Amino acid sequence: MKFRILGSGGMYPTPLPYCHCDICEKARMGSIRDTRSMPALFLEDIKLLIDTPEDIFNTLEKNHVDDIDYISLSHKDPDHVRGIRLVEGMYFDWKKEVPKKTINFFALPIVFDEVKEMNGNTLKFYSDVLKVIDIETCEEKEINGIKITLLNNLTNGTRNVTNYVFEKDGKKLVYACCNAKPFRDFDNYYNADILIISMVDLTKITNPNREEYKFDNELFSIEEIENLKKKYNIKKVICTHLDCNWSNTYEALSKYEKNLDGIEFAYDGMEINL
Ligand SMILES: [Zn+2]
Ligand SMILES: [Zn+2]
Repeated sequence: MKFRILGSGGMYPTPLPYCHCDICEKARMGSIRDTRSMPALFLEDIKLLIDTPEDIFNTLEKNHVDDIDYISLSHKDPDHVRGIRLVEGMYFDWKKEVPKKTINFFALPIVFDEVKEMNGNTLKFYSDVLKVIDIETCEEKEINGIKITLLNNLTNGTRNVTNYVFEKDGKKLVYACCNAKPFRDFDNYYNADILIISMVDLTKITNPNREEYKFDNELFSIEEIENLKKKYNIKKVICTHLDCNWSNTYEALSKYEKNLDGIEFAYDGMEINL
């Protein structure tokens, strides 16, 4: 399986127009690794895109992705959903007013209902009128020998957020793309080769005594990530959804990474071959 992290940023991209933090300033000065698009993952084998944040058009362009066969949305939040117009831009022929292609859209049933609620009738319009997507709700799916399991992290008992498990030929990758803490226990995660996980606090690398944030309880510490890695016997963890609010500069991350055992930090365009 060949994955690409198209967007390693979080709720917003970096640089942010109004932000003058170290990360945004470095990105502004041309640091490619500090320049992050919002969250999106691509599985090249089956041309599957997970999540469509607002900046997805640019993200696909930047990563030279010009065709998609499958789309899945992990949850209803705008930083994962608001770029869904992508499907009409790419696959509806506005000159002839016919679909160029119908792509498969899949999600957990509850996530589909919530996305529908948040975005009016957009999905119905794309499926019934423009016919650019075919909607499927499921908890498991197999595409060209790749088994995909969709697990609801049910964060804090209220937020429906999908964690994806991809399996093929004894290899396993878990993608926990947003609001992964607390990490709900599933046997499916054991012995994964790779876990890509969101919401890790990396500010303390350079600022151990920083002030408290209101959302601190939603962020993993590196120790908690190490414990998850150990508990589930995971070979490698890649931290993503690196918002400038709780991340650090690429320079600080890459130095810190060297002292960690099998924990890395994502960047836009990062390739993962399994
Ligand atoms: Zn910033
Ligand atoms: Zn998110």
